[in-house]
Amino acid sequence: MRMKATVFEGPGRMEVGQLDLAACGPGDVVVRVHACGIPGSDVCNSRTGLKADVGARVMGPEFTAVVSEVGAEVRRFRLGDRLAVAPDVSCGECNYCKRGLVNLCAQHRMVGTHWPGGFAEHVHLPREVLARGMVHHLPQGLSLDTAALSEPAASDRVYHPDAAAHAARPAVYRELHGALRPIRRRLQVPR
Ligand SMILES: [Zn+2]
Repeated sequence: MRMKATVFEGPGRMEVGQLDLAACGPGDVVVRVHACGIPGSDVCNSRTGLKADVGARVMGPEFTAVVSEVGAEVRRFRLGDRLAVAPDVSCGECNYCKRGLVNLCAQHRMVGTHWPGGFAEHVHLPREVLARGMVHHLPQGLSLDTAALSEPAASDRVYHPDAAAHAARPAVYRELHGALRPIRRRLQVPR
């Protein structure tokens, strides 16, 4: 299927064009993007280029989306599921991963860098990303617009745990932190 995407054509050149969407394999899902954040890393990468060994041309590592296609072997996701996607994908093999410290993975890869990201109409999420990445169902009552900030809100919580500083954050962050509490518990993210 052809889709519209914002394509990295080289340092300083981001252009809207048409790309082929990868076919949905038996362990994969395809999602239709609702909203995608623009992190500082993408602003930097769009100016300087990606790492030498990385060929992805569609950035956008943090986005919300609705499942539009589900592989035959996938049980965790269904058509119409609302998702928030963060970029990090651990290897599952290194010493850090085996100790559960997936955020320190020695072969860490990212959606929007090593796989095409959310600056597109659709994103193909392969089996590996679903198994070891950060793909979460949204709680009821949390909008796709607001949840598009889940990744920066979660990072903010980890790196700036001071409650007084947090109280000054915009209301959207406070709403997100409440909604993300069950996810943080599952991931055992420090509070
Ligand atoms: Zn690892």
